[in-house]
Amino acid sequence: MPIFEYWGYDKKESDFVFKEINLDKDIRNKISEHSYAILTFKNCTLCFQKIKVKVNNRNEFLKIVQKNPIVCETCAQYSPNYSLNSEIKKPINIILGELTDSELKVLTGIIKLKDKKLIYRHIFNNDILDTKIWKIINLLQRKGLIRVERDSNWKIESFEFENEINNYI
Ligand SMILES: [Zn+2]
Repeated sequence: MPIFEYWGYDKKESDFVFKEINLDKDIRNKISEHSYAILTFKNCTLCFQKIKVKVNNRNEFLKIVQKNPIVCETCAQYSPNYSLNSEIKKPINIILGELTDSELKVLTGIIKLKDKKLIYRHIFNNDILDTKIWKIINLLQRKGLIRVERDSNWKIESFEFENEINNYI
């Protein structure tokens, strides 16, 4: 719905003003039906999908932005892996200190190689189904250190990492 039908810009006030128009019931219903926003956050640290939250008003918006969720609502509701601890983000240097040598090796590899093909070649050694490596990758995702970005068909697009790690590795 074109917003300028309902809002005008008042140059004198430097602000948007609500135009006086008669909203019939149909239009009112349409507006209330569409008056929401879907916010997208980083991947859920349990299921690795993008966290999407629907907000219906300013209060909901502020609340969720302040919370900056790292676990999606569905995992929080159904996954036995979820606990309140899942929502607390430990400082990166502490998490890094808890990694094993293999985990640190894979993490450093992802950061240095960056490119998907190089990661397949040198970390997976061309065996993209290697479950041993996937266990490590998934653990790094759960700890919020890396994100495997996927398209809607769940095909891998890229490996991303928290920029802050660069300060430690
Ligand atoms: Zn989830």
